[in-house]
Amino acid sequence: MKRNFFVWKKIFVRLVHLVLILFVTGNLLIQDNSELHAALFSQKYAYVIGYVSLAYASILFYFLTCFVDPGYVKRDENSSNPQQIPSNSDIRLRYCEVCNLEQPIRSRHCIDCNRCVKKFDHHCVWLATCVGEKNHRYFWLFLLSTEALIVWSLIITWKAFRQSDSMGRWLALNLVYAMNMNVLLISFLACISLLIMHTYFMIHNTTTWELFSRRNITYLRTIKDTKVNPFHESYFRNIVLFFCACRTVKWENVYTRFKNRNLDPNESSDSERETRPMEIEVSSD
Ligand SMILES: [Zn+2]
Ligand SMILES: [Zn+2]
Repeated sequence: MKRNFFVWKKIFVRLVHLVLILFVTGNLLIQDNSELHAALFSQKYAYVIGYVSLAYASILFYFLTCFVDPGYVKRDENSSNPQQIPSNSDIRLRYCEVCNLEQPIRSRHCIDCNRCVKKFDHHCVWLATCVGEKNHRYFWLFLLSTEALIVWSLIITWKAFRQSDSMGRWLALNLVYAMNMNVLLISFLACISLLIMHTYFMIHNTTTWELFSRRNITYLRTIKDTKVNPFHESYFRNIVLFFCACRTVKWENVYTRFKNRNLDPNESSDSERETRPMEIEVSSD
């Protein structure tokens, strides 16, 4: 019953997204006062192909984010590799009772997906899936292409409004464009704020969960300087790792390297005392 509800919820939100994109772009293509419609009929195909390609890219990256495995932790992956923690590290992995496995560092159990996700970012209600290690890049590309599409559509819509002396007649003439404008303005604000946030996460090698729940995550809480991110090595490397789909990073190694680089005898003994019972503790929210 609950499973069916989640399946229908997924189908519903994805259909709503598709209908909204097709509604806005379709209106601009068929309404005779729009620049896009004029370009189509005056054979300015470069303009039309550019716009349609951008709409296609936005839809493609949306569904790639939805259907690519976000980085679910597989049980055999862990049991076959019990030595995943470096020998010179005191990291202790948290055990997920639901998935029945040890969570790699930076992973978290998602209640909606009912799975543990590597480098967990957040569970996105608009995509009805988790954003994690393997689909974060597609999510960022989805935000970028969608934001570009929204800005282009806003310009076309703005130019398409017709003038009129009376309010009633103006509304009758511009009803479709007014509806487009509402959808576009709300989407613009949501999308630009997410794009800025996730560009920051990409450059700094952090996640929504790590940024906003830092004090509940023991491997971050034990670092006294709250501005320090143990997974940040260089901006260039962070961006390469973010987009690189060909290899999986062992964050335990990166974390251990950071700890060894920044070993302060006093801080070490304090944090050791504090973290011994459970090295990686995650919040239950
Ligand atoms: Zn789990
Ligand atoms: Zn999820």
